[in-house]
Amino acid sequence: MSQSHVLIVGSVALDSVQTPSGKAERALGGAATYSSVAASFFAPVRIVGVVGEDFPAEHLAFLKSRGIDTEGLQIVRGGKTFHWAGTYEGDMNQANTLATELNVFSDFRPELPESYKSSEFVFLANIDPELQLKVLDQVTNAKLTAMDTMNFWIAGKPDKLREVMSRVDVVFINDAELRQLTGEANLVRAAAQVRALGPSYVIVKKGEHGAVMYCTPPAPPHCTPPVPPLCKGGKEASAPFDEGGKGVSTSFGEGGIGGLCFAAASYPLEEVIDPTGAGDTFAGGFMGYIASTGELTHDNLRRAVVYGSTLASFNVQDFSLNRLKRLTKAEIAERYEEFKRIVFFEETDAR
Ligand code: AMP
Repeated sequence: MSQSHVLIVGSVALDSVQTPSGKAERALGGAATYSSVAASFFAPVRIVGVVGEDFPAEHLAFLKSRGIDTEGLQIVRGGKTFHWAGTYEGDMNQANTLATELNVFSDFRPELPESYKSSEFVFLANIDPELQLKVLDQVTNAKLTAMDTMNFWIAGKPDKLREVMSRVDVVFINDAELRQLTGEANLVRAAAQVRALGPSYVIVKKGEHGAVMYCTPPAPPHCTPPVPPLCKGGKEASAPFDEGGKGVSTSFGEGGIGGLCFAAASYPLEEVIDPTGAGDTFAGGFMGYIASTGELTHDNLRRAVVYGSTLASFNVQDFSLNRLKRLTKAEIAERYEEFKRIVFFEETDAR
């Protein structure tokens, strides 16, 4: 495994969640938590966030047990941890938020430890876009930057959110949020609007309907190689990401068909116990896999989408991070292969 680190900023939370399968009270949650644990299956992770004194020591011990560097996780004396409460009824893709208590996140000013600043892979998980920008301002060596968000910030800080989007390489967003942000019902057109802000890739998560990746042609002239144009992280894409042209897919034209570069199925689960954190787990798996390979080619990004889907499909099989806690690399490898079988189809004879 390469030693490239994934730097992740976002919420670290105690979640109260109710689903048709039951409920969890003040269980470990938060966007940075899910994505860090998912990424840690592939690469070393550095987490940036804040918790209160009420954050149970066992949760901290769990993050450390996954090899996650917690130097950037501040603990505020006398403070209360971010708390989110939500329910899912019927549509398991859509949480109904009952409470969002920012608590220690209200006054949080992220200061990256010196050792974090040179991280090559940076994921701005769901949190106040102003905090995402502050983290982005401090990284010096990023080769791939990505961000995620949710309806709360789309409604509350849309301009800051667009600014973050204009400064990253990859935007993760779910279908409902993409429509909310752009006011556009058609996802192809909505994704094009976000791509026009600047990110090379827009990855739309569609819950039980899988995920699709849109990409932007053509590369800016200063970027090498011309595909893909990953230049925003502070460095121009260069040879290490495209050794021998390996992985630059020829299976679609510039920018894909209608801008669509890849569509991944979702894993057919008969029962979803708790969808919380599926999107964060998806993004964490994606970033961790990319960091472990260091290869920024279309083909590798496609694999990363499938790894993200794989991790997310496990996460929804139990409350909180309970399924990820007992997940093994062998299970990940097996389900990745199943994903491959699901979408395989032969050339047609009918012409
Ligand atoms: P997801 O299901 O992927 O949308 O993410 C769920 C996680 O996001 C939960 O664990 C929550 O703690 C966290 N969360 C909920 N609301 C917010 C918010 N406004 N900002 C940051 N994180 C949030």
